[in-house]
Amino acid sequence: MADDILKAGSGSEPANEGGTNFIHAIIEKDLEEGKYSRPVMTRFPPEPNGYLHIGHAKSICLNFGTAKKYGGTCNLRYDDTNPLAEDEEFVNSIEEDVHWLGFEWDQLLYASDYFETMYECAIRLIEDDKAYVCELTSDEIRSTRGTLTEPGTNSPYRDRPIEESLQMFKDMRAGKYEDGSIVLRAKIDMASPNINMRDPVIYRVLHATHHNTGDDWCIYPMYDYAHPLEDAIEGITHSLCTLEFEDHRPFYDWVLESLDWPEPPQQIEFAKLNISNTIMSKRNIKRLVAEGGVEGWDDPRLSTIAGIRRRGYTPEAIRAFCDAIGIAKANSQVEMGMLEFFVRDDLKDRVESRMVVLDPVKVTITNYPEDKQEMLPVENNAIVDSMGERMVSFSRELYIEREDFMEIPPKKYFRLYPGNEVRLKGAYFITCTDVVKDENGNITEILCTYDPATKSGSGFDERRPKGTIHWVDAKTAVDIPVRQYGYLSYPDEETGQQVFDPHSREDVVGKAEPSLHDAEAGERFQFFRNGYYIVDTVLSKPGDPVFNQIVGLKSSWKKD
Ligand code: ATP
Ligand code: MG
Repeated sequence: MADDILKAGSGSEPANEGGTNFIHAIIEKDLEEGKYSRPVMTRFPPEPNGYLHIGHAKSICLNFGTAKKYGGTCNLRYDDTNPLAEDEEFVNSIEEDVHWLGFEWDQLLYASDYFETMYECAIRLIEDDKAYVCELTSDEIRSTRGTLTEPGTNSPYRDRPIEESLQMFKDMRAGKYEDGSIVLRAKIDMASPNINMRDPVIYRVLHATHHNTGDDWCIYPMYDYAHPLEDAIEGITHSLCTLEFEDHRPFYDWVLESLDWPEPPQQIEFAKLNISNTIMSKRNIKRLVAEGGVEGWDDPRLSTIAGIRRRGYTPEAIRAFCDAIGIAKANSQVEMGMLEFFVRDDLKDRVESRMVVLDPVKVTITNYPEDKQEMLPVENNAIVDSMGERMVSFSRELYIEREDFMEIPPKKYFRLYPGNEVRLKGAYFITCTDVVKDENGNITEILCTYDPATKSGSGFDERRPKGTIHWVDAKTAVDIPVRQYGYLSYPDEETGQQVFDPHSREDVVGKAEPSLHDAEAGERFQFFRNGYYIVDTVLSKPGDPVFNQIVGLKSSWKKD
């Protein structure tokens, strides 16, 4: 699997200011040639019709990182030209998400604030005979557009006198037409090999309330017309967007050329981020949320920024991941294992370790005094000594993971089995002497003896048990709810489409060191040998934390 990822990654280059990529090469050439008399200016232009996802993080890192690299600026702009899909809830979440990722915008702008200018530009296009009012229905427009191999046919309204189009367009704005009854179209070329250039619709009638402009407008600009104007109005130099807009670039340029826009911005396309085993488009995430398969937009399994944050991923990890996947001109898919690698890599030397048993079975140390209890020092982080130690209680009855014991062990099983000795992390060596079973033959208790001479690993030089396992003292253990996660979705065997896995969350109750009861929302830990965990910020109450699994410890992906 690692090989596939390396292949997918080859040909792509780092996204952030640290590295360089083909977009940066274009910018450097533009700077050398003095193409723009203003500094480099980029923008991140989400449509506020859903929550941002990890794909948007790639675009955010690229746009903000590029501006920073060249001493320029980057705007956060809401591409809010479609009143039907947009909502204030999403606007607020987008700002939170961009900030959380560690970026600060130069200006916070709304495309809808430019509606008047866009309207004036449309008037100019009509006056210059570059746009006309068309009364074909949307079906008729579609059926006269032609195909990839056949040219389209001209609209019967194409040669409408300029004055008439001007008046009708003003009437459209004044609310004299019904939704869908009439449009404004660019007048370009119905025989163009690029279908996007066959007199595209640039304005439609829509009597809808807009989240920003209210009921001021009943005509709305189409995305392909609005976007170049938004960029131009703000003075953007390099408008970075995803590959599916490549065929739209000629129209982007046409709009600004037709208006004689000085030093127009240029659109540059890059490949979308695709990740395996997750659902990445806002539309599909929205459906999953609506159908109730997940807990909401911030379900920790989702690749929304809100979900990733709640899951316990860090902004540092996301940025490092975006750097590593780089920017390419060709679409590819990245394994979820690669994202997880960067999360683990970021957490490993900054979170403390605790012992938690997720699937407990009881161990009784038969030669340990019944009323004795002692405190043993255990390191807080196996690789960072300065993170110190904590005292962990030990007594006669413990819990260990059920899978750390086998009655009949296979080859190379180094954990506990009858007659075998293992080391208890930070405590003693114990040897299994017997097991207790219930009437169905299930193991209910494992009996062991301990060697007092091996306290805190002493005596390790003489004999080295091959296995070290974690444990918690049954006397002091607390129960903690833990949510274990699998992948959100799997590709359908036939269609390759991602299908939601309803079993992607498993709720368990772990036995934990008592201090975990006081863990605060948002606090992260390594559960020794089990993975990284965070105190859920939504479900936890003071003294009653709920833990989310952030990521396991084993990597399915390797850095080259
Ligand atoms: P979706 O298809 O998930 O709804 P979108 O492209 O419609 O995404 P926008 O809000 O229009 O979402 O996107 C804002 C910016 O983020 C755009 O410039 C878009 O190109 C970029 N973007 C969206 N998805 C990805 C992705 N998977 N990888 C990289 N950039 C992306
Ligand atoms: Mg979109």
